[in-house]
Amino acid sequence: MSLDNNKILNFIGGELVEPINGDYFENIEPATGKAYALIPDSDEQDLEHAVTAAKQAFPGWRDTAPEKRAQIMIKLAELIEARMDEFVAAESRDNGKPQSLAAAIDIPRGAANFRAFARMAADFGGERFEKDSSSSYVLRTPIGVVSTISPWNLPLLLFTWKMAPALAAGNCVIAKPSEVTPMTAYMLSALANEAGFPPGVLNVVHGMGAKIGAAITNHPDISAISFTGGTATGLAIYQAAAPHLKKVSLELGGKNPTVVFDDADFDAAVTGAKTAAFANQGQICLCGSRLFVHQDIYDRFKQSLLEQVAEIKIGDPQQADTQHGATVSEAHMEKVLAYIELAKQEGGKLLAGGQRRMLQGRCQDGYFIEPTVFENLPSGCRTNQEEIFGPVVSLIPFSSEQEVLEMANSTPYGLAASVWTQDQDRAARMAEQIDSGIVWINCWNLRDLDTPFGGMKKSGLGREGTWDAMHFFTQQKTVTSPK
Ligand code: NAD
Repeated sequence: MSLDNNKILNFIGGELVEPINGDYFENIEPATGKAYALIPDSDEQDLEHAVTAAKQAFPGWRDTAPEKRAQIMIKLAELIEARMDEFVAAESRDNGKPQSLAAAIDIPRGAANFRAFARMAADFGGERFEKDSSSSYVLRTPIGVVSTISPWNLPLLLFTWKMAPALAAGNCVIAKPSEVTPMTAYMLSALANEAGFPPGVLNVVHGMGAKIGAAITNHPDISAISFTGGTATGLAIYQAAAPHLKKVSLELGGKNPTVVFDDADFDAAVTGAKTAAFANQGQICLCGSRLFVHQDIYDRFKQSLLEQVAEIKIGDPQQADTQHGATVSEAHMEKVLAYIELAKQEGGKLLAGGQRRMLQGRCQDGYFIEPTVFENLPSGCRTNQEEIFGPVVSLIPFSSEQEVLEMANSTPYGLAASVWTQDQDRAARMAEQIDSGIVWINCWNLRDLDTPFGGMKKSGLGREGTWDAMHFFTQQKTVTSPK
């Protein structure tokens, strides 16, 4: 099959354009293992083109009334919503996630991000300080040309989550989606002109992280980078950005604990822990991959969990009843399977799953991995310390608050935690002492977009969320006069 008619294009200066070098690489559908589109292998030349367009557009966009910027962003949200089915099908095909999940979360949130930041564009203002001898106010001005670099696990959701605040604040954006899942970013870029974005305000360049991504981090005229992805990549970006003194926001990996006490609402905790472990095939930075259960309820909890895991329907992401789709790529599947082997070597007892699942028909070559549960792995072993980012959870019993806190805090990461207990005082103690940027009590992944979002330790630097992201994408200017 020739893929020439299914080419993804860059979006630069208001036009969909081929990469200047004419090079492409294949886009693989994870559920089938087959190439179905071509992705531009962009390089410095394309970036230069995008930077020039963004610099030209900046004065006009900066001076555009915030209400007008908001209007354009809302129009883009509407255009996505009007094509909901198309976007859902594309996201599922590109990523391997069930269409039902893309329809429930990815695409609605992709549009909602523009609405949330459209509100901020109009509302965002600086502080005032009144003292005996002086009167000051703070202006928040856009930075200029900024870049966003996003991962493959929630492709449109994270792509827009990063770009929307940058645009709302009056910056011109060069956005780089993941090369593993570029399709919905491309579809969005094709709507930008209709939404009313002036040419050059929003640019999308596709390609490899090590090539176009690295070019972005090294470009002297890109003044801020908002990155979401792996910790190793985040460190490389941080280092590359340092000599330019670029502003950097880093949302990185996690190894999140789910902690279930013996007084928890049992059924809610089992369902919550299962969802936290396996949502999106375990490929959410917030997934709870270490499941600590109080020893007094451990056996009963394990049994209930395994019953629920056995019910998870693995299948073609296009089928309405599929709950568990394909992992995103062959390379990622191999990485997850290697961790499953490692867990066995480290003494783990396999309780469920543990294998690639071979399906019939259209998906016979797809990258499916069974929801996998281990127990008996010491808290300090690699399986329990390193981010696997797949459908693998490790069950660990504990006897006291102190013990579980030590284990929960023992990894290099600190992104999210989920604590299940009906004792409000204990919940508050745990929330205070767990080293993570987000602690959910009796829930998981319940998001209020206004709240700060981000990680401690090797999980990141800085916070996102409506207020924090607007802060990141603006500079402060203090204006003082005497009284
Ligand atoms: P990744 O780090 O491999 O890639 C992320 C992005 O960075 C991609 O667009 C990639 O092309 C680009 N990139 C790669 N090398 C680069 C370089 N040298 N310079 C500039 N850009 C480069 O991550 P991934 O595999 O796409 O995503 C999975 C990771 O993302 C996991 O670790 C997960 O925990 C993390 N993640 C974190 C959050 C969060 O909010 N903290 C959210 C989602 C995913």
